[in-house]
Amino acid sequence: MAEELTEYQGPATMEKITSLAKRRGFVFQSSEIYGGQNGAWDYGPLGIELKNRIAQAWWKEMTRLHDNIVGLDAAILMHPRTWEASGHVENFTDPLVDCKKCKSRFRADQIPEENLAGKKCPECGGELTDTRKFNLMFSTHIGPAEDSASVIYLRPETAQGIYVNYKNIIQSNRMKIPFGIAQIGKAFRNEIVTKNFIFRTCEFEQMEMQFFVQPGSDEQWFNTWKERRWAYYEKLGVRMNHLRWHRHGPDELAHYAKDAYDIEYAFPMGWRELEGVHNRTNYDLSRHTQYSGKDLQYIDQENNNNRYIPFIIETSAGLTRNLLMILCDAYDEEKIASEKKAVDGSGESANDSEEWRTVLRFHPSLAPVTVAVLPLMKKDGLAELAGEIRSELKEDFATDYDQAGAIGRRYRRQDEAGTPFCITVDYQSKDDGTVTLRFRDSMEQVRIPRAGLTARLRDEIKAYKRV
Ligand code: ATP
Repeated sequence: MAEELTEYQGPATMEKITSLAKRRGFVFQSSEIYGGQNGAWDYGPLGIELKNRIAQAWWKEMTRLHDNIVGLDAAILMHPRTWEASGHVENFTDPLVDCKKCKSRFRADQIPEENLAGKKCPECGGELTDTRKFNLMFSTHIGPAEDSASVIYLRPETAQGIYVNYKNIIQSNRMKIPFGIAQIGKAFRNEIVTKNFIFRTCEFEQMEMQFFVQPGSDEQWFNTWKERRWAYYEKLGVRMNHLRWHRHGPDELAHYAKDAYDIEYAFPMGWRELEGVHNRTNYDLSRHTQYSGKDLQYIDQENNNNRYIPFIIETSAGLTRNLLMILCDAYDEEKIASEKKAVDGSGESANDSEEWRTVLRFHPSLAPVTVAVLPLMKKDGLAELAGEIRSELKEDFATDYDQAGAIGRRYRRQDEAGTPFCITVDYQSKDDGTVTLRFRDSMEQVRIPRAGLTARLRDEIKAYKRV
């Protein structure tokens, strides 16, 4: 295992990440022109590409690479009994205290003991209210009457949509235990404290997989999924010394869990949960059996029609929180010699001045733009040639085109967007059909024939290793 860090190391701070995210169109504050909406964020042109890429990587890993895991997209609005059965109506609460003086609101478990005991506001010293339970589920009404019979919840986790469909999926897809159901979708929680940018928000997305196993084999499967989820982040190119396991102690375990581990990441503000791997036992399916009156036992046809309620191993990751992790992990700053393109073999060299660059070292399979095509000049047919090359690449890669400003500045812009490859088109390209391929991380440039571009880029993506 990689050597463990004691704390985050690197140039990223939440301020820098938030400001870069806004400047380059990754993430905007929701409803900004009205002063912003707390706990909600909008994903801009680069952000939605990155989010889609992260979701696709997870989906591929969890469904395509496993013969016994299938996908689902359940509705956000579910029958309200679901949330009674799941325990959320009763138990999904945070302990809340308010300051009578400055009106600040805190989670009682997140303020210093002495403030809580002395009923003193940690911000202004004013008097605190008693601790009360605050349910994190958002509720609204469905239909024309706003009475208690019409209450409906925005789902606080995607998992329940999987449990209520488990029988449908066994029947329609002839699934045999052990098997899994994977789902990506929105979840909503009325979080009391939403700070640190998109880390904890009221509206977010989850990537969850529920794996149904025979009771007794649950501990073994729990370990298997812990290993697989760890290996996944390694494959994604995350710096593994920024990840660690945290096992839930008895006070932290959720009402449904027998055992739970979090994968934590060293964010700039400290180690925080990224994903949970939970042994949820047969709690959820037993409760849904009880509340729905439907028999949710599995019938094991290969073993004398043995009947049982399966145990569930859950892997639950935040998609939007993964995006923040990927941004923090990729963020780098470095001092470099001013960069120019080595023009058509005439040997124009970099001058001596130095500058700083900000670079997002995304794995190429996650980068919002894989390849940018840049004509050295707008004139003399170079723009047209570059446009043509970009069109050829569009089928296979996410592309960008930029002809505005000095070439060095254009490279800087692509570095900041995390684009791993730039293709520069110059006068020599017109003569001999070659182009320059420039690498984001090393800033190395090589001249290659235009004809082999697609294959070369594919190979580079496959062979990518972060330095
Ligand atoms: P916490 O204790 O931090 O509130 P949790 O333990 O309740 O989180 P889970 O219910 O296990 O979290 O949710 C699974 C995953 O969903 C988390 O690991 C996280 O990545 C993501 N997640 C949960 N709540 C939020 C939120 N408010 N905003 C963004 N992502 C979230």
